[in-house]
Amino acid sequence: MATPAVKIKRVLIANRGEIAVRIIRTLREMNIESVAVYSDADFDSQHRYLADYAVRLPGTASADTYLQIPKLLAAIVSSGADAVHPGYGFLSESSEFARQVSEAGAIFIGPPPAAMDRMGNKIHARNLMTQHGVPVVPGAQAPLRDAAELKKLAHEIGYPLILKAAGGGGGRGMRVVRQDSELEAALSACQREAVAYFGNPEVFCERYIERPRHIEFQVLFDAHGNGVHLFERDCSVQRRHQKLFEEAPSLYLNEKQRADIGAKAVAAARAAGYVNAGTIEFICESPDKAYFMEMNTRIQVEHPVTEMITGLDLIAWQIRVAQGEVLPFKQSELRPHGWALEARINAEDPALDFAPAAGTVHAMNLPGGPFVRVDTHLYPGYRIPDAYDSMVAKVIVWANTRPEALKRMQRALSELRLEGVQTTAPFHEALLALPAFREGDFTTKLIEEQAEYWRKSFRESGGDGDEPTLAAVLGVLTASQQSATPSVESAQSTRTSLWNDTARREGLE
Ligand code: ADP
Ligand code: ADP
Ligand code: MG
Repeated sequence: MATPAVKIKRVLIANRGEIAVRIIRTLREMNIESVAVYSDADFDSQHRYLADYAVRLPGTASADTYLQIPKLLAAIVSSGADAVHPGYGFLSESSEFARQVSEAGAIFIGPPPAAMDRMGNKIHARNLMTQHGVPVVPGAQAPLRDAAELKKLAHEIGYPLILKAAGGGGGRGMRVVRQDSELEAALSACQREAVAYFGNPEVFCERYIERPRHIEFQVLFDAHGNGVHLFERDCSVQRRHQKLFEEAPSLYLNEKQRADIGAKAVAAARAAGYVNAGTIEFICESPDKAYFMEMNTRIQVEHPVTEMITGLDLIAWQIRVAQGEVLPFKQSELRPHGWALEARINAEDPALDFAPAAGTVHAMNLPGGPFVRVDTHLYPGYRIPDAYDSMVAKVIVWANTRPEALKRMQRALSELRLEGVQTTAPFHEALLALPAFREGDFTTKLIEEQAEYWRKSFRESGGDGDEPTLAAVLGVLTASQQSATPSVESAQSTRTSLWNDTARREGLE
């Protein structure tokens, strides 16, 4: 490999939680020093302990800490960091932050600010794609001015439509509109939320595809014009437009479709003048009808599944590219290997309709064993603050084939214990048992449709007249699966007694 143009020595991680921990690990393997930043609520957070240096960001709210550019710039200067990794969320897609980091003399480990600007606004990105022959979902080419304009467009494109914020992200603030009478209220609600969540009032609409698949391609570009895609991730398993479970590759695509959409992803990134790792998200009506949806100009939550099937450490490659290194592989030399799955473990209370649930992790057991990876910042005794994201761990498995990977994920989840906090783990266990999911025959509607089915069977099997919560249904479902075989039944009884013991210990304290 060619000698890098620059050698990064100390990286400040402008983030927290599992991604900060994950980045520190790669830095250590590359003999690069790490600088953590931590808010007051993160005084006890693992990333602070694991990094070589740590700088306090006084305050708790994201707006006062991890989103505060002046505080981060001061931390860069005081720690002597020569580069910054933004992780995902927070300032990772802020071209303003990237610019200011460069002006402060540090390297921003991510794309050039101009490329972020080209892709950051979803309306501009859509128009850029159209100019470069990458198909987009039919929809608006400029921000919507008022309900009258939206109505006119709706009649051209046809219902249903989805309204989105041009600056949106994280699955929030989107609205599906099915008829004229809903237009006005939906538009004003969407505009209100766009300002509140994303600080940008621009809203646009596109055709809403009823039962699509979310397929995204990882791309990686160096600063010398070389770019590849690192295959797809299927992120169709979602709840309220938020990803819950991801896999790579996808059963949905054959070789030819993979190559076709992959080439579009590379063309899309090239059109933006992109450098570093990024993701092109496609919404697919069918495997041959993939439309560009948006680009995430950063590392993604689900990047580990790509790492597992390619053997590449994506954070390491982000750093190498930022050092000016040349990608040493061509598209034709890359092949996906085996199958990887990821379950996002969120601290959410199923009994409260999956509302974020902070709490203390009294005891925990993380899965291990062959080809299992857990990315988390949790440790026993850690109190999960309620100020930030509810995702607390990612369970990732790899196997040669998808059925083996499914089995391995089941096994890994059965080992996971987080005592003291409610999580989405039962949800994943129920998902793995679904025939439609196992057979790969699913869309982004899977959870919604399945929840309906679960509720219906719950009622028909003698559940009382009240509409049970999804949580209650899942509870019954997982319990009945576990008592189905004697060996699992005994495992279940140990599991229960472990919980009782903890409850007893807590009662004594
Ligand atoms: P991924 O595409 O990596 O799966 P998610 O959509 O799950 O990303 O978002 C990752 C994190 O970044 C979440 O904490 C999410 O809330 C946050 N996030 C993503 N985009 C934005 C945005 N535009 N504004 C605020 N937060 C965002
Ligand atoms: P975000 O920036 O919040 O991630 P996206 O535009 O990527 O927003 O959309 C998030 C999710 O919303 C998609 O993964 C998909 O499930 C759903 N979605 C978005 N656009 C459409 C569409 N045109 N038709 C159907 N579903 C859509
Ligand atoms: Mg998206």
